Amino acid sequence: MLPDVATEDLSAARRPALSPSRAGDFKQCPLLYRFRAIDKLPETPSPAQVRGTVVHAVLEQLFGLPREERLPERATDLVAPTWARLLEEQPELAGVFAEDAGWLDSAGKLLAGYFELEDPRRLEPEACELLVETELPSGVLLRGYIDRLDVAPTGEIRVVDYKTGAAPREVGEAKALFQMKFYALALWRLRGVVPRQLRLMYLADRQSLAYTPDEAELTRFERTLDAIWQAILRAGKTGDFRPNRSRLCDWCSHQAHCPEFGGTPPEYPGWPEPDAGEESLVDRAD
Ligand code: SF4
Repeated sequence: MLPDVATEDLSAARRPALSPSRAGDFKQCPLLYRFRAIDKLPETPSPAQVRGTVVHAVLEQLFGLPREERLPERATDLVAPTWARLLEEQPELAGVFAEDAGWLDSAGKLLAGYFELEDPRRLEPEACELLVETELPSGVLLRGYIDRLDVAPTGEIRVVDYKTGAAPREVGEAKALFQMKFYALALWRLRGVVPRQLRLMYLADRQSLAYTPDEAELTRFERTLDAIWQAILRAGKTGDFRPNRSRLCDWCSHQAHCPEFGGTPPEYPGWPEPDAGEESLVDRAD
């Protein structure tokens, strides 16, 4: 079953956690963090986000097939049934592509982009859509999903993330690297091994970007996450989440509630229980 795109809720009572998406939101704009993590204001997924969700789900299924069947045609054939399943579970998504008759083709193009970047018949990932959760020594709980984890016979780890979004690569790149360092740190803490490679696969651009983290960098990054979480907790107590206007506001769904755009935020509901760190499927399919 595909999780709910907008409001996935994985557990009834979890400790507040930091996810890469929500940490990124706070860094970008504390008020955006509040709207998403605390007020939980609804956001209508964009066609690009829903398409990304379908493409991610297709790639996950592809690796569930025997190696010899992981072919472009099989992947394309999986698009329509995957979309049908998502629609069955979330009929409200039917309107997303109402004016975009060619969207199935565009999902096919993203998958074609994937096959230009690698041959899945030559890979046997350890996991797809892997939930990682670990607590830092400071007590911060990290939680996130890794699109794919490859582990070599030598034990070397590669973290793979598929990028299917419509935003220009340069806009999303810093955010993507932040997300990948988050996963690298979580895996290092969980398994005692620093991942050898972080690989971002931009399916629309048909380009991939590989990055090798090191211990010193991840240690610094850990301090950054601690500082972000402390700042979130401080703001959470008072409700003082300030807007930070930037060109990323163009992608924000909450301008109507944002003082930077003449709006008024809803009354602060207080720090949420049980969880301010969950990611939706859309977060993972950007
Ligand atoms: S519109 Fe911009 S400043 Fe306002 S909440 Fe969204 S991201 Fe923040």
